[in-house]
This record gives sequence, C-alpha cells and structure tokens, in this order.
Amino acid sequence: MKHILVTGGAGFIGSHLCKRLLDEGNEVCCVDNFFTGKMQNIEYLRANPRFTIIHHDIVQPLEFDQPLDEIYNLACPASPVHYQYNPIKTLQTNVIGITNMLELAYRTGARLLQASTSEVYGDPELHPQPERYWGNVNPIGIRSCYDEGKRCAETLCMDYHREYGVTVKLVRIFNTYGPNMSQNDGRVISNFVVQALKGENITIYGNGSQTRSFLYISDLIEGFLRMMATEAEFTGPMNLGNPREFTMLRLAELVLESTHSSSKLVFEPLPQDDPRKRQPDITLAKSKIAWEPTLFLEEGLLRIIDYFKKELGIQ
Ligand code: NAD
Ligand code: UDP
Repeated sequence: MKHILVTGGAGFIGSHLCKRLLDEGNEVCCVDNFFTGKMQNIEYLRANPRFTIIHHDIVQPLEFDQPLDEIYNLACPASPVHYQYNPIKTLQTNVIGITNMLELAYRTGARLLQASTSEVYGDPELHPQPERYWGNVNPIGIRSCYDEGKRCAETLCMDYHREYGVTVKLVRIFNTYGPNMSQNDGRVISNFVVQALKGENITIYGNGSQTRSFLYISDLIEGFLRMMATEAEFTGPMNLGNPREFTMLRLAELVLESTHSSSKLVFEPLPQDDPRKRQPDITLAKSKIAWEPTLFLEEGLLRIIDYFKKELGIQ
C-alpha cells in the first residue's frame, strides 16, 4: 500500500485518479480548494477509510507530516473559461503551487507526477507534436497564464530534479473528456453534449475547422499509473493523448448523431490565440510504457452522454 497525495483530486481527472488509486489498495489524500472541483465527484469515496480530503489551496505551503510515496499534482483550472477567470491566480497555482508540492516531495522523498498539457506547444507549427518540439506560445496573451504557467511548472520540476534529486514525471495531457466534467466546464465536449441534450444551439467558435484529438479518461489514468511506475531517472516529458484528430465541425456532427438531437449549429467568434490544430505523437508512450488509447471517441461520447443525461434528469 502506497501513501499518495492527489492535488486537484475533486476535479474531473483527479476524481477518477483517486478512485483508481483506492481500488488498487492505496491510501489516498485529496487536496483541493474546490474552485472547479466538486464534492459530488468524490462523495462516494468518503466511505473508504483509506481516503481523506484536505480543503487546501496549493498556493499556500502544505504541512503534511505523514509518510508520502507519491504526489500527483493536478490542481489547476483546466478549461479556458475557468483559468481565464482569475489569470493571476492560475499563474500562482502553476508556479507557487507546484513549488510547494516540489518542496513537499523533497521533504518526504515522494515522487511527483506533474499534469502538464499539450498547451505547452501553443499554436503548433509542427504537426503532430512530439515531446522534443519546444512550442509556439504567445507569452502575453489571454491563454498565457495557463500555457506559460504550465511551461514554468515543467521548468521547476526539472530544476528540482537536477538541483535536489527529486523524482519527477512530466505528462503532457491532450484534450481529455469523460464523466465528472461539469455541465458548465466550458470545454468543447461538455458544451456540445449538454447543448445537444437540452436542444440548445451548438456553439462553434470560428468556422469549426480547428482540430483537437480527444482522449477518454480511463485511458489517461492508465497512462498516469504507468508513467509514475517508471524508473526514477526517467522524467519525461511524455505525451498522453489520442492521435485521432477531429475538426470541431466533425465533433459537432458526431455529437448530434449520438444524441439524436436536432440542435442547430451557430458560429461564434474564435477566442484569441485558439490553437488551430493539435495531435499528439505518442511514439514515446508506446515504446516506454506500452501505452496507447483503447477507446474510440464514438464509444466515449456515448458514455459521457449517459452521464450528462443522468445529471440533467433526461431519460
Ligand atoms: P478540473 O478543473 O476539473 O480540475 C482541477 C482541480 O484543481 C479542481 O478540483 C480545482 O478545484 C482544483 N484546484 C484548482 N486550483 C487549485 C489550487 N490553487 N489549490 C488546490 N486545488 C486547486 O480540470 P481537469 O480537467 O480535471 O484537469 C486536471 C489537471 O490536468 C489540471 O492541472 C489540468 O491543467 C491538466 N490537464 C487537463 C486536460 C484535460 O483535457 N482535461 C488537458 C491537459 C492538462
Ligand atoms: N470550442 C467550440 N465551442 C465551444 C467550446 C470550445 O467551438 O463551445 C472550440 C474551441 O474554440 C477550441 C476547441 O473547441 O478550438 C477546444 O476547446 P476546449 O476549450 O475544449 O479546449 P482547448 O482549446 O483548451 O484545447
């Protein structure tokens, strides 16, 4: 049994991770400030005596005097709507927050996995994106608090690794979806599915030709665990994503077909610095941790549709 801390554990990805780690027999402590996370996501885990919750903001140092083997640092709003709500706070979470977690890892000897992002590639000029690509990021735009914050967090992880020997693992997550996303999350899959189910207009930003590659949550969690188990010297970064690429128009069609909805498509302005395309090169994950996605978007969509139907009280 390992002692594991999951920051952002009440959020979408964190709640699935907590469950999986508990299922494997570990002791799990969820640290969350509940900015975008919901108690509802982890409520049912509270009956487990190996699960604890600390209401805490990682921008503040965390006193933790129990043994600790692993830290998964997921705390950070991930949807553009939420990370742009208080950009300075987002940056602080990414820079001061990760520093606090790296200090904790250093004190306790725990290894730390950092939830980095495909956003470190910005609006990529290389397609698909391998880990060796350094990216094309606007340092002063409205997405910078997130993109540059996550890039700086990667730098801090590598400097703690080189200076203090902290074991770090960097995973660059590409657009991931699944149950426990909030109805008001603001990201594209939850928006389209909720709009389709409610019979509201489907909001396409720009002309819908921009692309993303969507990973189902259970595939991501499997990748996390495999990455955490790699030898201490291996830091990554490692892309975790599904290489199947979709335009937002195609995604909207798929959602309409899968929900049997007659919602109409409406076109709204494209947000500033919205990346035009994104697709992971997962050669490294395949060779290093024998990982690749197992679930197609068509199947994953049906699962998240079921989830939102229940949330919305639709039969
Ligand atoms: P989410 O918004 O559902 O979860 C984030 C969690 O972090 C929430 O529970 C929130 O309350 C918590 N949090 C935010 N700031 C905090 C702070 N200062 N202190 C403590 N807790 C804080 O988002 P998610 O999709 O679950 O993303 C989790 C992590 O994965 C994030 O770090 C995100 O950047 C990264 N990521 C996600 C995706 C994706 O597609 N879902 C892609 C790339 C990277
Ligand atoms: N998007 C959209 N309609 C929405 C929400 C998002 O067309 O209601 C677009 C958005 O402009 C982007 C893509 O979908 O091009 C993915 O957006 P999301 O916020 O999910 O993720 P990110 O841009 O961070 O990859």
